[in-house]
Amino acid sequence: MLIRGAEVWRRGLADVRITGGTIAAIGTLAPLPGEEIVEANGGVLLPGLHDHHIHLSALAARASSIACGPPEVTTPEDLAAALGRPGSGWMRGIGYHESVMGLPDAAALDRFVADRPLRLQHRSGRMWLLNSAALAQLLARTAPPPGLEREGGRFTGRLFDADDWLRAALGSVPPDLSEVSTNLARFGVTGVTDMSPRNDPAMAAHFAAQRTSGALQQSLVLAGGLSLSDAAPGPWRLGPAKLHLHEAELPDFAEAEAFVRAAHGAARPVAVHCVTEVELVFTLALFEAAGAIPGDRVEHASIAAADHISRMAQLALRVCVQPHFVAERGDRYLVDVEPRHLADLYRLKSLSDVGLVLAGGSDAPFGEPDPWAAIRAAVSRRTRDGAMIGEDEALSPEAALALFLTDPLDLARERTIDPGAPADLCLLDRPWAQTRERLDAADVRACWASGRLIHQRIDQPPL
Ligand SMILES: [Zn+2]
Repeated sequence: MLIRGAEVWRRGLADVRITGGTIAAIGTLAPLPGEEIVEANGGVLLPGLHDHHIHLSALAARASSIACGPPEVTTPEDLAAALGRPGSGWMRGIGYHESVMGLPDAAALDRFVADRPLRLQHRSGRMWLLNSAALAQLLARTAPPPGLEREGGRFTGRLFDADDWLRAALGSVPPDLSEVSTNLARFGVTGVTDMSPRNDPAMAAHFAAQRTSGALQQSLVLAGGLSLSDAAPGPWRLGPAKLHLHEAELPDFAEAEAFVRAAHGAARPVAVHCVTEVELVFTLALFEAAGAIPGDRVEHASIAAADHISRMAQLALRVCVQPHFVAERGDRYLVDVEPRHLADLYRLKSLSDVGLVLAGGSDAPFGEPDPWAAIRAAVSRRTRDGAMIGEDEALSPEAALALFLTDPLDLARERTIDPGAPADLCLLDRPWAQTRERLDAADVRACWASGRLIHQRIDQPPL
């Protein structure tokens, strides 16, 4: 196939030939007999975007869930309306935040939904709120886990950090990923790194089957537990070992250090979840004790003080950022975050200024999966209501785009459109000079993963 007259990223106007999943040639190319031709009309051709931090299964589950938190739901009345839909069987609410009505117990949730089991996930992904019917169903099948809160001998319905138990008790099978994959293709995403800490050989087998069947069209890097190293090989690549920290319940330091050493011993970098200052301090101490290897990552770095930034730089850690949280959650942060921390929130420029290597991830479903929204927020630093957070942390459109162009297994390296490289490509309908003013997923015209067309915008004549 020949893409003709594209503004090839970092190269300029050229034709690009794709053969058998790779880029065969770039230059002024004459069509081969019978070759399929795509006229790019000067639109910019980018390496396909890579989402460096996503949770595919949870994102697929979200499609069959009800939004129960801001901005859709901000009051108990909104919540009643959201949950007041007819149906039977389990109801799954997501994105709940205590600003709606605190952390309701089972009896309080029964006032919204009494006749069917309801589980409501907190926006952090760390907590579920269950109504009485849900408690009864789950406890009829399995013994309660330690994370199920008790008050005065009875269960409140608040369930902390017990997703494995919940999954087992529900008997759920991992979801099909075709819809998620199709949606990501619309944004020009040709690769993802799944960062779910529970990824293990069984999940790897599920992902492999989804890749093989064509349900998941993006190339896949799997981060997860140490056991992933033992998974059967499949159409995915092994990513970092994921260490999930929770400020209220930090792991034993020696155990965490042993985890890092075990991963490093298997030549695997470690990615640590850090959304609070305490979690970042723990992580820095951890890498300072165990030593850091190239590829070790801080996920989120939601709060980073100047002193911690220089320690991250000294360790040469990579930082996987979610600039869109400023847009999606910024108005809430302005209320909730201590003013002294606002300057430390989702920093970008001050991280790259000290030489830290950055990559972008949506953290979907906890953030929106559109990387262009993240790129826009990295440039604008605007909340949904238009407030500015950390103006000095803004990146240029080029630097913001680069967050999604890096190599998932070597974040310091930007993927390029070169002969011999995989034909993972994202074609926009206009040149970069215009794209950079908009940074809008609507401008993505077509997308190829390993040379296969996985998205083509339907408002255009066929390519
Ligand atoms: Zn995450």
